[in-house]
Amino acid sequence: MNDLTMNAVEATEVIEKDVVIVGAGPVGLFAVFELGLLDIGAALIDILDKPGGQCAELYPEKPIYDIPGYPVVTGDGLVEKLLEQIKPFNPTFHLSRMVETLVRQPDGRFKLTTDAGDTFIAKVVVIAAGGGSFQPKRPPVPGIEAYEGTSVRYAVRRMEDFRDHDILIVGGGDSALDWTLNLQPLAKSLTLVHRREEFRAAPDSVNKMRALLDGGKIDFQIGQVSGLSGNDGQLTAATVKAKDGSQSDIACTRMLPFFGLTMKLGPVAEWGLNLEENLIPVDTEKFETSEPGIFAIGDINTYPGKLKLILCGFHEAALMSQAAARIVDPDKRIVFQYTTSSSSLQKKLGVI
Ligand code: FAD
Repeated sequence: MNDLTMNAVEATEVIEKDVVIVGAGPVGLFAVFELGLLDIGAALIDILDKPGGQCAELYPEKPIYDIPGYPVVTGDGLVEKLLEQIKPFNPTFHLSRMVETLVRQPDGRFKLTTDAGDTFIAKVVVIAAGGGSFQPKRPPVPGIEAYEGTSVRYAVRRMEDFRDHDILIVGGGDSALDWTLNLQPLAKSLTLVHRREEFRAAPDSVNKMRALLDGGKIDFQIGQVSGLSGNDGQLTAATVKAKDGSQSDIACTRMLPFFGLTMKLGPVAEWGLNLEENLIPVDTEKFETSEPGIFAIGDINTYPGKLKLILCGFHEAALMSQAAARIVDPDKRIVFQYTTSSSSLQKKLGVI
Protein backbone atom coordinates (compact mmCIF):
# COMPACT_ATOMS: atom_id res chain seq x y z
CA MET A 1 0.00 0.00 0.00
CA ASN A 2 3.04 2.29 0.37
CA ASP A 3 3.60 2.56 -3.38
CA LEU A 4 0.00 3.57 -3.71
CA THR A 5 0.36 6.33 -1.16
CA MET A 6 3.26 7.69 -3.20
CA ASN A 7 1.03 7.61 -6.23
CA ALA A 8 -1.86 9.34 -4.51
CA VAL A 9 -2.42 12.94 -5.56
CA GLU A 10 -3.33 15.01 -2.54
CA ALA A 11 -3.17 18.54 -3.90
CA THR A 12 -6.17 20.47 -5.16
CA GLU A 13 -5.47 20.93 -8.89
CA VAL A 14 -6.83 20.44 -12.39
CA ILE A 15 -5.89 16.99 -13.59
CA GLU A 16 -6.08 16.14 -17.31
CA LYS A 17 -6.27 12.47 -18.26
CA ASP A 18 -7.42 10.45 -21.25
CA VAL A 19 -9.77 8.53 -18.98
CA VAL A 20 -11.17 9.16 -15.52
CA ILE A 21 -12.63 6.16 -13.72
CA VAL A 22 -15.21 6.88 -11.04
CA GLY A 23 -14.82 4.10 -8.47
CA ALA A 24 -11.73 2.08 -7.55
CA GLY A 25 -13.53 -1.19 -6.87
CA PRO A 26 -12.28 -4.41 -8.52
CA VAL A 27 -13.86 -3.50 -11.86
CA GLY A 28 -12.47 0.06 -11.92
CA LEU A 29 -9.04 -1.37 -11.09
CA PHE A 30 -9.14 -3.96 -13.88
CA ALA A 31 -10.27 -1.27 -16.34
CA VAL A 32 -6.88 0.40 -15.76
CA PHE A 33 -5.24 -2.79 -17.05
CA GLU A 34 -7.36 -3.13 -20.17
CA LEU A 35 -7.00 0.60 -21.00
CA GLY A 36 -3.26 0.43 -20.29
CA LEU A 37 -2.74 -2.34 -22.87
CA LEU A 38 -4.15 0.15 -25.39
CA ASP A 39 -1.76 2.91 -24.19
CA ILE A 40 -4.49 4.81 -22.39
CA GLY A 41 -3.66 6.38 -19.02
CA ALA A 42 -6.29 6.60 -16.30
CA ALA A 43 -7.04 8.32 -13.01
CA LEU A 44 -9.15 6.55 -10.40
CA ILE A 45 -11.33 8.45 -7.94
CA ASP A 46 -13.00 6.88 -4.91
CA ILE A 47 -14.68 8.16 -1.80
CA LEU A 48 -13.05 5.38 0.22
CA ASP A 49 -9.55 5.94 1.56
CA LYS A 50 -8.37 2.72 -0.07
CA PRO A 51 -8.93 0.92 -3.40
CA GLY A 52 -11.01 -2.25 -3.64
CA GLY A 53 -14.65 -1.14 -3.32
CA GLN A 54 -16.93 -3.76 -1.79
CA CYS A 55 -14.13 -6.38 -1.64
CA ALA A 56 -12.00 -4.14 0.57
CA GLU A 57 -14.76 -2.48 2.57
CA LEU A 58 -17.40 -5.18 3.04
CA TYR A 59 -15.59 -8.52 2.96
CA PRO A 60 -11.77 -8.14 3.04
CA GLU A 61 -11.21 -11.50 4.75
CA LYS A 62 -14.00 -13.53 3.15
CA PRO A 63 -13.09 -16.08 0.49
CA ILE A 64 -14.26 -15.61 -3.11
CA TYR A 65 -14.47 -18.85 -5.10
CA ASP A 66 -15.47 -17.69 -8.59
CA ILE A 67 -12.58 -15.59 -9.86
CA PRO A 68 -11.17 -17.41 -12.92
CA GLY A 69 -7.82 -18.99 -12.13
CA TYR A 70 -8.14 -18.52 -8.37
CA PRO A 71 -9.83 -21.49 -6.66
CA VAL A 72 -10.01 -19.24 -3.59
CA VAL A 73 -8.94 -15.68 -2.88
CA THR A 74 -10.02 -13.23 -0.16
CA GLY A 75 -11.48 -9.79 -0.91
CA ASP A 76 -8.24 -8.11 0.16
CA GLY A 77 -6.16 -10.74 -1.65
CA LEU A 78 -7.90 -10.03 -4.95
CA VAL A 79 -7.44 -6.27 -4.56
CA GLU A 80 -3.75 -6.76 -3.79
CA LYS A 81 -3.29 -8.84 -6.98
CA LEU A 82 -5.22 -6.32 -9.09
CA LEU A 83 -3.01 -3.51 -7.78
CA GLU A 84 0.08 -5.54 -8.66
CA GLN A 85 -1.32 -6.24 -12.14
CA ILE A 86 -2.03 -2.57 -12.95
CA LYS A 87 1.22 -1.21 -11.53
CA PRO A 88 2.97 -1.02 -14.95
CA PHE A 89 0.31 1.43 -16.10
CA ASN A 90 0.93 3.83 -13.22
CA PRO A 91 -2.63 5.02 -12.62
CA THR A 92 -3.12 7.97 -10.29
CA PHE A 93 -5.30 7.32 -7.24
CA HIS A 94 -7.44 10.14 -5.88
CA LEU A 95 -8.91 8.67 -2.73
CA SER A 96 -11.18 10.01 0.03
CA ARG A 97 -13.08 12.19 -2.42
CA MET A 98 -16.48 11.87 -4.01
CA VAL A 99 -17.13 12.82 -7.63
CA GLU A 100 -19.97 15.30 -7.37
CA THR A 101 -20.44 16.75 -10.86
CA LEU A 102 -19.89 15.47 -14.38
CA VAL A 103 -20.56 17.77 -17.34
CA ARG A 104 -19.51 17.85 -20.99
CA GLN A 105 -17.27 20.76 -21.98
CA PRO A 106 -17.68 22.78 -25.20
CA ASP A 107 -14.60 20.93 -26.61
CA GLY A 108 -16.39 17.58 -26.14
CA ARG A 109 -14.30 16.47 -23.18
CA PHE A 110 -15.76 15.96 -19.72
CA LYS A 111 -15.22 17.96 -16.55
CA LEU A 112 -15.58 16.22 -13.21
CA THR A 113 -15.37 17.90 -9.82
CA THR A 114 -15.00 16.34 -6.39
CA ASP A 115 -16.04 17.33 -2.90
CA ALA A 116 -12.35 17.85 -2.13
CA GLY A 117 -12.31 20.76 -4.58
CA ASP A 118 -10.32 19.20 -7.43
CA THR A 119 -11.20 19.20 -11.10
CA PHE A 120 -10.55 16.53 -13.70
CA ILE A 121 -10.74 16.91 -17.47
CA ALA A 122 -11.07 13.69 -19.49
CA LYS A 123 -11.86 12.52 -23.01
CA VAL A 124 -13.68 9.50 -21.64
CA VAL A 125 -15.38 8.80 -18.31
CA VAL A 126 -15.84 5.29 -16.99
CA ILE A 127 -18.39 4.96 -14.21
CA ALA A 128 -17.41 1.92 -12.15
CA ALA A 129 -19.36 3.11 -9.12
CA GLY A 130 -20.72 -0.29 -8.01
CA GLY A 131 -23.69 -0.02 -5.68
CA GLY A 132 -22.92 3.69 -5.29
CA SER A 133 -20.60 5.61 -3.07
CA PHE A 134 -19.80 4.46 0.43
CA GLN A 135 -20.99 7.20 2.74
CA PRO A 136 -20.65 7.53 6.51
CA LYS A 137 -23.59 6.57 8.69
CA ARG A 138 -24.95 9.49 10.72
CA PRO A 139 -25.16 8.68 14.44
CA PRO A 140 -28.57 9.11 16.09
CA VAL A 141 -27.73 12.37 17.89
CA PRO A 142 -30.49 15.02 17.85
CA GLY A 143 -29.49 18.21 16.00
CA ILE A 144 -26.18 16.81 14.64
CA GLU A 145 -26.97 18.12 11.12
CA ALA A 146 -26.41 21.73 12.30
CA TYR A 147 -22.74 20.96 13.01
CA GLU A 148 -21.92 18.74 10.02
CA GLY A 149 -19.16 20.05 7.78
CA THR A 150 -18.02 22.55 10.42
CA SER A 151 -17.43 20.97 13.82
CA VAL A 152 -18.70 17.47 13.05
CA ARG A 153 -16.68 15.66 10.38
CA TYR A 154 -17.04 12.10 9.13
CA ALA A 155 -13.55 11.91 7.64
CA VAL A 156 -10.22 13.60 8.15
CA ARG A 157 -9.34 15.35 4.90
CA ARG A 158 -6.70 17.68 6.40
CA MET A 159 -5.17 16.94 9.76
CA GLU A 160 -4.39 20.66 10.19
CA ASP A 161 -8.13 21.34 10.54
CA PHE A 162 -7.91 19.54 13.88
CA ARG A 163 -4.82 21.24 15.31
CA ASP A 164 -5.31 22.81 18.77
CA HIS A 165 -8.93 21.65 18.94
CA ASP A 166 -10.69 19.76 21.70
CA ILE A 167 -11.43 16.61 19.73
CA LEU A 168 -14.10 14.02 20.48
CA ILE A 169 -13.82 10.73 18.60
CA VAL A 170 -16.77 8.34 18.79
CA GLY A 171 -16.52 4.65 17.86
CA GLY A 172 -14.58 1.47 18.53
CA GLY A 173 -13.42 0.31 15.10
CA ASP A 174 -10.21 0.83 13.16
CA SER A 175 -11.06 4.34 11.95
CA ALA A 176 -11.84 5.58 15.46
CA LEU A 177 -8.65 4.12 16.89
CA ASP A 178 -6.40 5.11 13.98
CA TRP A 179 -7.52 8.73 14.18
CA THR A 180 -7.20 8.74 17.97
CA LEU A 181 -3.55 7.79 17.55
CA ASN A 182 -2.89 10.15 14.62
CA LEU A 183 -4.66 13.24 15.92
CA GLN A 184 -3.58 13.03 19.57
CA PRO A 185 -0.19 14.75 18.98
CA LEU A 186 -1.79 17.86 17.47
CA ALA A 187 -4.98 18.05 19.56
CA LYS A 188 -5.48 20.46 22.45
CA SER A 189 -7.33 17.59 24.11
CA LEU A 190 -8.72 14.31 22.79
CA THR A 191 -11.51 12.18 24.23
CA LEU A 192 -12.53 8.80 22.85
CA VAL A 193 -16.11 7.67 23.50
CA HIS A 194 -17.24 4.10 22.85
CA ARG A 195 -20.31 2.30 24.08
CA ARG A 196 -18.34 -0.51 25.68
CA GLU A 197 -14.91 -1.42 27.03
CA GLU A 198 -14.10 -3.83 24.14
CA PHE A 199 -12.91 -2.55 20.74
CA ARG A 200 -13.25 -4.05 17.25
CA ALA A 201 -10.08 -2.30 16.07
CA ALA A 202 -6.72 -4.02 15.52
CA PRO A 203 -5.23 -5.13 18.87
CA ASP A 204 -2.03 -3.16 18.21
CA SER A 205 -4.02 0.09 17.84
CA VAL A 206 -5.99 -0.68 20.99
CA ASN A 207 -2.75 -1.27 22.94
CA LYS A 208 -1.31 2.03 21.68
CA MET A 209 -4.50 3.85 22.61
CA ARG A 210 -4.42 2.35 26.12
CA ALA A 211 -0.80 3.48 26.52
CA LEU A 212 -1.86 7.07 25.68
CA LEU A 213 -4.68 6.74 28.20
CA ASP A 214 -2.32 5.44 30.92
CA GLY A 215 0.07 8.32 30.16
CA GLY A 216 -2.74 10.87 30.61
CA LYS A 217 -2.49 12.00 26.96
CA ILE A 218 -6.14 11.19 26.11
CA ASP A 219 -9.41 10.57 27.94
CA PHE A 220 -11.78 7.66 27.43
CA GLN A 221 -15.44 7.41 28.37
CA ILE A 222 -17.84 4.51 28.00
CA GLY A 223 -21.24 5.71 26.81
CA GLN A 224 -23.14 7.21 23.91
CA VAL A 225 -23.34 10.78 22.71
CA SER A 226 -26.89 11.92 23.45
CA GLY A 227 -26.75 15.65 22.70
CA LEU A 228 -24.62 18.50 21.36
CA SER A 229 -24.27 22.14 22.43
CA GLY A 230 -22.90 25.11 20.52
CA ASN A 231 -23.79 28.08 18.34
CA ASP A 232 -23.86 28.75 14.57
CA GLY A 233 -22.52 25.33 13.68
CA GLN A 234 -19.64 25.65 16.13
CA LEU A 235 -19.65 22.88 18.71
CA THR A 236 -18.70 23.61 22.32
CA ALA A 237 -19.66 20.39 24.12
CA ALA A 238 -21.16 16.92 23.74
CA THR A 239 -23.32 15.20 26.32
CA VAL A 240 -22.41 11.57 26.94
CA LYS A 241 -24.89 9.19 28.51
CA ALA A 242 -23.37 6.32 30.49
CA LYS A 243 -24.90 2.83 30.81
CA ASP A 244 -26.31 3.71 34.27
CA GLY A 245 -28.19 6.65 32.72
CA SER A 246 -25.96 9.36 34.19
CA GLN A 247 -24.96 12.17 31.85
CA SER A 248 -21.80 14.27 31.61
CA ASP A 249 -20.62 17.04 29.28
CA ILE A 250 -17.33 16.84 27.39
CA ALA A 251 -15.91 20.12 26.04
CA CYS A 252 -15.20 19.68 22.32
CA THR A 253 -14.85 21.82 19.20
CA ARG A 254 -14.41 18.95 16.73
CA MET A 255 -16.29 15.66 16.71
CA LEU A 256 -15.50 12.65 14.55
CA PRO A 257 -18.19 9.93 14.68
CA PHE A 258 -17.14 6.61 13.09
CA PHE A 259 -20.33 4.53 12.82
CA GLY A 260 -19.49 2.62 9.65
CA LEU A 261 -20.45 3.19 6.03
CA THR A 262 -23.53 2.69 3.95
CA MET A 263 -23.82 2.52 0.14
CA LYS A 264 -25.88 5.20 -1.60
CA LEU A 265 -26.17 5.89 -5.32
CA GLY A 266 -25.26 9.49 -4.51
CA PRO A 267 -24.30 12.07 -7.15
CA VAL A 268 -24.32 9.56 -10.08
CA ALA A 269 -28.10 10.13 -10.20
CA GLU A 270 -27.55 13.84 -10.97
CA TRP A 271 -25.39 13.44 -14.08
CA GLY A 272 -28.21 13.42 -16.63
CA LEU A 273 -27.77 9.75 -17.58
CA ASN A 274 -30.69 7.40 -18.20
CA LEU A 275 -31.29 5.30 -15.09
CA GLU A 276 -33.31 2.13 -14.51
CA GLU A 277 -33.98 1.44 -10.84
CA ASN A 278 -30.79 3.24 -9.82
CA LEU A 279 -28.70 1.36 -12.40
CA ILE A 280 -27.26 2.72 -15.64
CA PRO A 281 -28.49 0.96 -18.78
CA VAL A 282 -25.70 0.22 -21.29
CA ASP A 283 -25.31 -1.62 -24.59
CA THR A 284 -23.43 -4.92 -24.51
CA GLU A 285 -21.03 -4.10 -27.32
CA LYS A 286 -19.30 -1.10 -25.72
CA PHE A 287 -20.96 -0.71 -22.31
CA GLU A 288 -21.65 2.90 -23.19
CA THR A 289 -24.37 4.91 -21.40
CA SER A 290 -26.98 7.18 -22.97
CA GLU A 291 -24.21 9.80 -23.20
CA PRO A 292 -21.52 9.04 -25.81
CA GLY A 293 -18.07 8.92 -24.21
CA ILE A 294 -19.43 7.93 -20.79
CA PHE A 295 -19.23 4.21 -20.10
CA ALA A 296 -20.61 2.23 -17.13
CA ILE A 297 -19.12 -1.09 -16.03
CA GLY A 298 -19.46 -3.41 -13.03
CA ASP A 299 -22.33 -3.47 -10.53
CA ILE A 300 -23.60 0.00 -11.52
CA ASN A 301 -24.78 -1.01 -15.00
CA THR A 302 -27.71 -3.02 -16.28
CA TYR A 303 -28.48 -4.89 -19.51
CA PRO A 304 -30.43 -8.04 -20.38
CA GLY A 305 -28.85 -10.95 -18.54
CA LYS A 306 -26.61 -8.83 -16.32
CA LEU A 307 -25.04 -10.65 -13.35
CA LYS A 308 -23.49 -8.63 -10.55
CA LEU A 309 -20.31 -10.67 -10.52
CA ILE A 310 -16.73 -9.47 -10.55
CA LEU A 311 -15.87 -11.63 -13.57
CA CYS A 312 -18.69 -9.99 -15.58
CA GLY A 313 -17.27 -6.58 -14.70
CA PHE A 314 -13.84 -7.68 -15.96
CA HIS A 315 -15.31 -8.70 -19.34
CA GLU A 316 -17.15 -5.36 -19.55
CA ALA A 317 -13.88 -3.51 -18.84
CA ALA A 318 -12.18 -5.25 -21.79
CA LEU A 319 -14.90 -4.37 -24.30
CA MET A 320 -15.35 -0.85 -22.95
CA SER A 321 -11.61 -0.22 -23.42
CA GLN A 322 -11.76 -1.04 -27.14
CA ALA A 323 -14.54 1.53 -27.60
CA ALA A 324 -12.83 4.11 -25.36
CA ALA A 325 -9.64 3.81 -27.43
CA ARG A 326 -11.55 4.93 -30.53
CA ILE A 327 -12.60 8.11 -28.71
CA VAL A 328 -9.24 8.84 -27.09
CA ASP A 329 -7.36 8.58 -30.42
CA PRO A 330 -9.74 8.14 -33.38
CA ASP A 331 -6.84 7.89 -35.86
CA LYS A 332 -5.04 5.05 -34.10
CA ARG A 333 -5.50 1.57 -35.55
CA ILE A 334 -6.35 -0.97 -32.88
CA VAL A 335 -4.74 -4.36 -33.41
CA PHE A 336 -6.05 -7.31 -31.44
CA GLN A 337 -3.16 -8.99 -29.61
CA TYR A 338 -2.56 -11.68 -26.98
CA THR A 339 -0.40 -10.83 -23.94
CA THR A 340 1.13 -14.33 -24.29
CA SER A 341 2.61 -13.69 -27.71
CA SER A 342 2.76 -9.91 -28.29
CA SER A 343 6.17 -8.44 -27.51
CA SER A 344 4.65 -4.97 -27.73
CA LEU A 345 2.16 -5.78 -24.95
CA GLN A 346 4.87 -7.50 -22.92
CA LYS A 347 7.02 -4.34 -23.15
CA LYS A 348 4.12 -2.28 -21.81
CA LEU A 349 3.80 -4.75 -18.95
CA GLY A 350 7.53 -4.48 -18.26
CA VAL A 351 8.09 -8.25 -18.50
CA ILE A 352 10.65 -8.09 -21.34
P1 FAD B 1 -17.72 -1.71 -6.07
O1 FAD B 1 -16.89 -2.80 -5.54
O2 FAD B 1 -19.03 -1.42 -5.42
O3 FAD B 1 -16.84 -0.38 -6.07
C1 FAD B 1 -17.40 0.85 -6.47
C2 FAD B 1 -16.61 1.99 -5.85
O4 FAD B 1 -17.07 3.21 -6.40
C3 FAD B 1 -16.81 2.10 -4.34
O5 FAD B 1 -15.56 2.03 -3.70
C4 FAD B 1 -17.48 3.47 -4.16
O6 FAD B 1 -17.06 4.15 -2.99
C5 FAD B 1 -17.03 4.20 -5.41
N1 FAD B 1 -17.94 5.30 -5.78
C6 FAD B 1 -19.24 5.24 -6.13
N2 FAD B 1 -19.72 6.45 -6.45
C7 FAD B 1 -18.67 7.31 -6.30
C8 FAD B 1 -18.53 8.70 -6.45
N3 FAD B 1 -19.54 9.49 -6.85
N4 FAD B 1 -17.31 9.26 -6.19
C9 FAD B 1 -16.26 8.49 -5.77
N5 FAD B 1 -16.35 7.16 -5.61
C10 FAD B 1 -17.54 6.57 -5.86
N6 FAD B 1 -18.88 -11.10 -6.45
C11 FAD B 1 -18.33 -12.20 -7.04
O7 FAD B 1 -18.07 -12.20 -8.23
N7 FAD B 1 -18.05 -13.31 -6.27
C12 FAD B 1 -18.30 -13.36 -4.93
O8 FAD B 1 -18.04 -14.38 -4.28
C13 FAD B 1 -18.85 -12.21 -4.29
N8 FAD B 1 -19.08 -12.19 -2.95
C14 FAD B 1 -19.61 -11.07 -2.37
C15 FAD B 1 -19.81 -11.06 -0.99
C16 FAD B 1 -20.35 -9.94 -0.39
C17 FAD B 1 -20.56 -9.94 1.11
C18 FAD B 1 -20.70 -8.81 -1.16
C19 FAD B 1 -21.28 -7.57 -0.51
C20 FAD B 1 -20.49 -8.81 -2.54
C21 FAD B 1 -19.96 -9.95 -3.16
N9 FAD B 1 -19.72 -9.97 -4.54
C22 FAD B 1 -19.15 -11.08 -5.11
C23 FAD B 1 -20.09 -8.85 -5.41
C24 FAD B 1 -18.86 -8.04 -5.78
O9 FAD B 1 -18.21 -7.56 -4.62
C25 FAD B 1 -19.27 -6.89 -6.68
O10 FAD B 1 -19.81 -7.45 -7.87
C26 FAD B 1 -18.05 -6.04 -7.03
O11 FAD B 1 -17.50 -5.43 -5.88
C27 FAD B 1 -18.46 -4.95 -8.03
O12 FAD B 1 -17.31 -4.23 -8.31
P2 FAD B 1 -17.41 -2.73 -8.82
O13 FAD B 1 -15.98 -2.30 -9.03
O14 FAD B 1 -18.37 -2.66 -9.94
O15 FAD B 1 -18.07 -1.90 -7.62
